[in-house]
Amino acid sequence: MSSELSRQIDRLIQKKPMYKEPLSLYGDLMVFLNEIEPEMTHEMKDQSVCETKVKEGFPLFSREDLPLDLKAAFSLFYRLLKYLASKNRRDKEALEEALTKAQIDPNWIMSLITAFLSSDEPAIANIAEEVNLEPVVLKFVTHMALRPSLNTLKESYSERVQKDRWVYGYCPLCGSSPDVAYLNEEGRRFLHCELCGYEWYYPRLRCPFCENKEPKELGYFVSEDDEGFRVDFCKKCNCYIKTLDKRVIESRAPLELENLVTLHLDMLAHEQGFKTPHG
Ligand SMILES: [Zn+2]
Ligand SMILES: [Zn+2]
Repeated sequence: MSSELSRQIDRLIQKKPMYKEPLSLYGDLMVFLNEIEPEMTHEMKDQSVCETKVKEGFPLFSREDLPLDLKAAFSLFYRLLKYLASKNRRDKEALEEALTKAQIDPNWIMSLITAFLSSDEPAIANIAEEVNLEPVVLKFVTHMALRPSLNTLKESYSERVQKDRWVYGYCPLCGSSPDVAYLNEEGRRFLHCELCGYEWYYPRLRCPFCENKEPKELGYFVSEDDEGFRVDFCKKCNCYIKTLDKRVIESRAPLELENLVTLHLDMLAHEQGFKTPHG
């Protein structure tokens, strides 16, 4: 982990001690990520194929056919579990159980990855229940295990997507929904992909989930506890997205980390009847 990220995590733990656990988990898992170089054996899509897809509004890949190095993901998944189980966590026993399961049954990991990629929450909950682990922890580990492959995807293809021609609320690389957004120094809005982390421009006065442009149905609220953040919502589809305003806060922490420490805002949004596209 870079020392800058480590500093950011310490800063956030000081500022928001109640998030110490997820922040430490994030920090712990990051330690491993630089160690694995996935082997991407797929053939790159041609520039012309990419251009046509972008023009017609199709993401380059779907979540089900992403070029992933599964061998690397399996190995990383296993190592991440092992590492977490070695920590003095309260879910230590469940982690050990998951580790044993992963060891004797590679299909178990595969079904987890499949469920994760198809956002099949009930299936993930079932798999998590088998080993008594919280689904959120299992999802996080799965996501991290896929991360080197996803990073390679992002590095290989972000050049091939003409950013200014992509005008949709889903990721041009993998088709996923955004999980968080930010306003840059000029107040332009960018969405952050929940799966691969790619960021793309999207108009502020439009709902990324249903493309609603009616100003009367779009709004946002803020909370004193989370300065620099706002929650943009749409009254047509009832979805919301958290937005970091970089004009207010100059954050150097990765957006996904900021997303992690603003769960309070998600609670407020849910209380007001708004949801994420996955519920
Ligand atoms: Zn993506
Ligand atoms: Zn909407």
